[in-house]
Amino acid sequence: MLNERMVSLGTQRSVIRELFEFGKIRAAEVGADNVFDFSIGNPSVPAPAEVNETALKLIREGDPVSLHGYTSAQGDLEVRQKLAASVSSRFDFPVGPGNFYVSVGAAAALCCCLNGLCNPEDEVIVFAPYFPEYKVFIEGAGAKMALIPADIETFQIDFAKFEAAINEKTKAVIVNSPNNPCGVVYSEETVKKLGNILREKSKEYGAPIYLIADEPYREIVFDGTVVPYLPKYYENTLVCYSWSKSLSLPGERLGYVLVPDQVQDHDLVYAAVAGAGRSLGYVNAPVLFQRICAECADLTADVSVYEKNCNLLYNGLKELGFEVVKPDGTFYIFPRTLEEDDIAFCERAKDYNLLIVPGTGFGCPGHTRISYCVPTERVERALAAFKALADSYQK
Ligand code: PLP
Repeated sequence: MLNERMVSLGTQRSVIRELFEFGKIRAAEVGADNVFDFSIGNPSVPAPAEVNETALKLIREGDPVSLHGYTSAQGDLEVRQKLAASVSSRFDFPVGPGNFYVSVGAAAALCCCLNGLCNPEDEVIVFAPYFPEYKVFIEGAGAKMALIPADIETFQIDFAKFEAAINEKTKAVIVNSPNNPCGVVYSEETVKKLGNILREKSKEYGAPIYLIADEPYREIVFDGTVVPYLPKYYENTLVCYSWSKSLSLPGERLGYVLVPDQVQDHDLVYAAVAGAGRSLGYVNAPVLFQRICAECADLTADVSVYEKNCNLLYNGLKELGFEVVKPDGTFYIFPRTLEEDDIAFCERAKDYNLLIVPGTGFGCPGHTRISYCVPTERVERALAAFKALADSYQK
């Protein structure tokens, strides 16, 4: 008898994968240029030149044995020293190498936190709309996901619903700002209130409720938006970061967990994160990219195309009558669908060669996610397809 949960996870094809396969079939029929695939969140800009230059330098000049050798389970010490220097200066928040657990992308960072913190029956609060893998990761850690419905007018936190959901089983809260799929950044007001509530509730229940800040989109923000650094607002915050989006390196699988000293019982929490990494086999993240990311930690790919695409889509969709909250960052936009049934809406969009993802999978029905990490000319041409789709609802 196999593990049924794993068999089921391994056999279910995600909606995004289905769309991807559909796109390939459609491209063969109508030509790849006429298919507007807005399904996947794969960065469309190259990594900064320094990334490849550093790779070449390390390969040519690095010690040929240690270049590909094991590091400490939690990541190379020199790498963690460089990351600590970068975080300390960028966020004016002092940290040291002992605060970092280098991981295989943000996904592994989240799993290390969740497995390290949670016991069976614990609850982890997530705000809709949310990255669908959170449920898989939380359940994989033996805990339960408690979902807070979205405030669809702003996509900030609905605090009344949040407070009502906290109970003695609440172990952690995951926040993702800038957010996949809606692109919204939590304001400083939201973050302050969140910290205050968590502090009060931790006191009330006599145990810390941890805040897990999932931040792979931190650097992709528009119009000067500032993303508050959450450990400054709530002491029991663990940061999960990756260079997948900011340096356009999703396939290289590099990120980290940051456990600041201020976290209650820091040494135990750090040990639990490291222990989870050990038990999951997430030790020694890929060594070449540990070193490259440490060298390039202060850089960001040229992400200006995302803001351009965002403005084009936002204005274009508004003109067509869509209701949509303006993203502050990422490369996603999350308009309301023109019919209540978002799955039917996205099916209909396929008739216009628009591949967009139903909001239901993000815990927010009645919406659709459009990933605009594509060339700008594709967004421009797609607006005619969105118009034809909108017109079909007038008939
Ligand atoms: N969290 C969010 C919100 C994401 O959108 C993603 C990837 O798309 C991840 C985590 C996983 O990131 P990584 O590829 O670094 O594992």
